[in-house]
Amino acid sequence: MKTIYLFDVDGTLTPARKQMERGFRNFFSKFCKEFPVYFVTGSDRPKLDEQLPIEIRNAAEGIFTCAGTEFWRKSELVDQRHHEFDKELISTLERIIDLSPYKGRYGKHFEFRTGMVNVSIPGRNIPQEGREAYYHWDRAYGERQAIIKSLARFFPEYTVAAGGQISVDVCPKGWTKAQVLTRLKTWHPDCRFVFFGDKMGADGNDRPLADVIWADSSDNQAISVEDPQQTQTMLESIYRAGHAEQLLELCA
Ligand SMILES: [Mg+2]
Repeated sequence: MKTIYLFDVDGTLTPARKQMERGFRNFFSKFCKEFPVYFVTGSDRPKLDEQLPIEIRNAAEGIFTCAGTEFWRKSELVDQRHHEFDKELISTLERIIDLSPYKGRYGKHFEFRTGMVNVSIPGRNIPQEGREAYYHWDRAYGERQAIIKSLARFFPEYTVAAGGQISVDVCPKGWTKAQVLTRLKTWHPDCRFVFFGDKMGADGNDRPLADVIWADSSDNQAISVEDPQQTQTMLESIYRAGHAEQLLELCA
């Protein structure tokens, strides 16, 4: 059975918001040329382009950005979905930002993407050190978890998940990474799917896709990784095993 590989980007293939590291990049471009690969990122296309080099983007079968509301082949946008966000939701988020006990505010608290709004308490203009500081503060005080819980209660028509280190992603219910599986299955009906992601915990943005992948077939796998190094180690062993299999087929 043929395997289709799906990858989250931030934290799975690259350090958060940064470019892919050189050693991984060399190996991964070989991997993408030999195995069918799709990217499934919460980010928009300009961010993905900063993170993954062109030879890797072009070697992929396809790229889902904005949690699957946009689909690209190479640099061509094939299709996208649209949504008008509830005004009440946006004003509630503004109040949450105002009332947060976290001190630092750096601007750019909202980023609207196709089918998603990314909301950051400290703001996306935060410098790298500030980003780390907020991330540790949030882990200790659980601010993002609290936001996720209260929005789920008052705006049940939306899904909220922790994204990256400093923000939450809000999208219409069902407009999560999970939406990509239906399409992938129509393109690859007799294949198994293996998905790598770093946010598969209960409120993580890889969890919805992991859930439908597990539910779809016991041949599928959703693999939770700690960081890009772990992804690389696993892919290297898949790559070696794939080659051994090809050799066995040649000898048969
Ligand atoms: Mg990630």
